[in-house]
Amino acid sequence: MTDGALFTPASQGPDLGLTGRPVRKLPEPAPLAKHGPATILAMCNQKGGVGKTTSTINLGAALAEFGRKVLLVDLDPQGALSAGLGIPHDELDITVYNLLVDNQSSIHSAIHHTSVPGLDLVPANIDLSAAEIQLVNEVGREQTLARALRPVIREYDFVILDCQPSLGLLTVNALSCAHGVVIPMECEYFSLRGLALLTDTVEKVRDRLNFNLEVLGILVTMFDRRTSHAREVMSRVVEVFGDQVFDSVITRTVRFPETSVAGEPITTWAPSSPGAEQYRNLAREVIERTLEIGR
Ligand code: ADP
Ligand code: MG
Repeated sequence: MTDGALFTPASQGPDLGLTGRPVRKLPEPAPLAKHGPATILAMCNQKGGVGKTTSTINLGAALAEFGRKVLLVDLDPQGALSAGLGIPHDELDITVYNLLVDNQSSIHSAIHHTSVPGLDLVPANIDLSAAEIQLVNEVGREQTLARALRPVIREYDFVILDCQPSLGLLTVNALSCAHGVVIPMECEYFSLRGLALLTDTVEKVRDRLNFNLEVLGILVTMFDRRTSHAREVMSRVVEVFGDQVFDSVITRTVRFPETSVAGEPITTWAPSSPGAEQYRNLAREVIERTLEIGR
């Protein structure tokens, strides 16, 4: 495929976005008169390093910029989400682990405010690695997270669950309470293979545990427009998944690794960078799609 197929100059027809589809101008999200109840999104892919945590932070921050109240929940014992928002998670006494294994812990005591107004976080640390084993014999083990979140659902507009790279019990807990799944995928040939397993799991959870679960969208991350490989994978992804693919595409840039070191979202670290604009555009699309699924 040549460059021209994806980047038609305006004079030759409609402007094409990075997905190869015509660019749509998305509406600015309307301000909210009141907050809640939250739409719960699971950021999910069993492959590591595909941009789940980066997308959780930056989608969350962009939604907060649009006046939404957002709670991010770290469901990965590595704690990258917490670290990426500058929360020193190793030393914390109360994390998502306590909420899952101890019925007496209150979610209010686990919530941290971040440097972004309207963006809160429930952190995780290595303690969480014991949770799956501890939960295995519990009644209603797949609904533990839903129970833990219930007291604050009315206070937020979005809850985003940053899943670990596995389809184990923690991820099933996330899928059991989510309204929508956002699937970040690296624009790389082998990424396509894992998506079938993931969509099968989503379907199983929908059949057995959560009838309302929808795939909200597939987010292509780390797209490098200069390589023909990336452009070929992109056209294949659009061919296979069609409208499920978000128009918003996140391009590859060192700005993202930089933000993890800085401990803040790209929307505040480099507010006018292409990466910040791409996540704002994703936030507009996510708001549009949550309305479409009746939220
Ligand atoms: P996951 O949570 O799926 O494991 P991360 O969000 O932690 O993935 O991303 C993995 C690594 O890739 C991190 O070092 C992150 O900074 C980097 N990264 C994420 N998105 C991009 C991007 N668009 N361009 C370049 N690097 C990125
Ligand atoms: Mg992660």
